[in-house]
This record gives sequence, structure tokens and C-alpha cells, in this order.
Amino acid sequence: MMKIIQISDIHIFLEEANYNNADSKENFLRLLKLISRQDFDYLVISGDLAFRSGGEKIYQWLKKNLTAYQAKLRVISGNHDDSKQLFNAFPLPQNSISVTTESKVYYYEKLANNHIFYLDTADGILDQDQREWIREVKNKCQIAAVNIFMHHPPLKMGINYMDQNYPLKNQQEAKELFKIFTNCNVFCGHYHNQAFRKEDNLNVYLTPSSWFQISKEPSEFSIQNTIPAYRYLEIENNQLLQTEVVFWEE
Ligand SMILES: [Zn+2]
Repeated sequence: MMKIIQISDIHIFLEEANYNNADSKENFLRLLKLISRQDFDYLVISGDLAFRSGGEKIYQWLKKNLTAYQAKLRVISGNHDDSKQLFNAFPLPQNSISVTTESKVYYYEKLANNHIFYLDTADGILDQDQREWIREVKNKCQIAAVNIFMHHPPLKMGINYMDQNYPLKNQQEAKELFKIFTNCNVFCGHYHNQAFRKEDNLNVYLTPSSWFQISKEPSEFSIQNTIPAYRYLEIENNQLLQTEVVFWEE
């Protein structure tokens, strides 16, 4: 059984002290302390490692603080990242099948008996080249059920401000593609809250931000709280055995 911790939307800013009532560095370090007491095999950071735009200094700051987890670490890009610079700081895992384009980096690996995709939706789109590559890998590796990490959720998640203003631009195409799998667990971030939605074979798990959470109901931007959180998940034979969201407590 494989244990994964997912952290999302860290949004590190190095110069400014405080945005949205919370210091993203401080909250991230709180989470690191929290997970240091937890037993896990892999740590996935699901995008938006940088505050506004990705840069070497930010990624190096994170790398330094994540040294203890180097071998366990997997990263993907969010809309506030620079994929090239991100993967300069955090190299792709050995034995992965990967694609690096002008602006994107995405990859697949088999961990124990689990098929895992790490997608790149930095531009808000699951682009056609990437969709075709997913089909190819699926056939080549004979994948039926799958687990996917991607920054943008492929379904409406009920965080209204984000659903209305910053969704994945081609949710329909993504949903259609994911039908090629018998079961598809998708672990996302981007929306700064927790939620779960199911549609046919698609199970979408939204993981809160390590910085602050956005209120679910209002159509306007509104902060629910500034409590960092992570998701813990257990996977075996591509099935999700258990998952929970853990909030930091003083
Ligand atoms: Zn985002």
C-alpha cells in the first residue's frame, strides 16, 4: 500500500511579508512540521508553488526547505508557475515517461503497482498534444484504472468564485478523454478549498491550499480562513483505499 501526501497552492513570495492576511512561507513551514510526524512514501506538490509567477529564487527556497524529501518529491505546474524553471529546480523522477515542450512538462510513472500521471495545465488548458500523449501512454502501458495529479479540476467543484472565474478552460475535453480509463481518480488544487465530486468513472478530489482557503458560496473573492492543510491518501492497485484532509492546529 502506498501512502502519499499532497500539498497544494503554496504561493511562496519572498519579498513581501503578508498578503491575504497570511504569510505563505510561514504556513508552508507549519505544514512541513506537521507532515514530519506522518509516515508517507511520496510527497506531491500540485502546482502554484509561486505566488504570482515562478522564478528561480522561489523554487530554490522551496527546494532548500524540502531537502529531506528529495527522493519522495513530485511536482506539477500551476497557472502561477514557470514549468521550465520549476523542473530545473526539481528534476523529473528516474524511470518516468515524460514530455518537455516550450512551456510544459508532464510525466507518467508506475509506482509499485500504481499508474500515476502528473499533468501540466499551467495555461489553464489540458492541451491536445498532452491529451494524445495520455492516450499513447495508456495503450503502451496497458492502463485501465489510473490516478492523476493536475492543478485544475476537470469538474465544477462548488467553490463558486473559482468555478466561475478560473476553471480549466476545456473541462469537457478533459472529461471525454478520462472516459478511456475504467476508473479515474484526479487529485487537484487551484481552488483553495476541499471538495469531492463524482461523475461517471471520474472521481475528483480537491485539496486545500497550504496558504489560505477561499469561501465556497460567494461569487466574489472571500477568504474563509488562513489555516494550512494537506491531503493524505492511500493507494493500492490503483484503487484509493483512504483519503483525508488534515488541517494544521496550533
Ligand atoms: Zn492555480
